[in-house]
Amino acid sequence: RQPVLAVVGRPNVGKSTLVNRILGRRAAVVEDVPGVTRDRVAYDATWNGRRFVVVDTGGWEPDARGLAARVAEQARAALDTADAVLFVVDTTVGATDADEAVARVLHRSGLPVVLAANKVDDSRGEADAATLWSLGLGEPYPVSSLHGRGSGDLLDAILEAL
Ligand code: GDP
Ligand code: MG
Repeated sequence: RQPVLAVVGRPNVGKSTLVNRILGRRAAVVEDVPGVTRDRVAYDATWNGRRFVVVDTGGWEPDARGLAARVAEQARAALDTADAVLFVVDTTVGATDADEAVARVLHRSGLPVVLAANKVDDSRGEADAATLWSLGLGEPYPVSSLHGRGSGDLLDAILEAL
């Protein structure tokens, strides 16, 4: 079967926008309102002639235990079928408690993780992206899912992880 890349992260960090960027077409539903994208939608992707499956996640809201617990649970569920994980963080916000909870889940999973420092729309965001080394998941790849900046390097890293 094709290798599977699970895309995880908090609501509104740009997961679906990044999935569209990876697919090279507007396929995943992108909404300004968090929680609108359907849960765990799978798409066929190709980069440099290699095929893989991208699984977008979303479609939920924080429950009584709070956002961090809910996001971590969502990440855990996505890992079941994944060969590698694309963890998306909003660089304009920085690493939140929920991001750190997900990072712990991912670290324990032993799966290869590619860390996307999203919303780096210009060079000024590069320094902020570097602060995400603190998540302990290796090199943060600065990317603008909206404009495409950095997406080639990110996709190369994804292929290496899969
Ligand atoms: P998701 O909930 O993680 O799937 O996030 P979405 O893909 O729905 O994006 C949430 C919001 O962030 C939307 O308004 C997007 O247009 C915006 N967004 C996503 N990627 C970027 C980016 O690289 N730069 C900027 N400035 N905004 C982005
Ligand atoms: Mg989404």
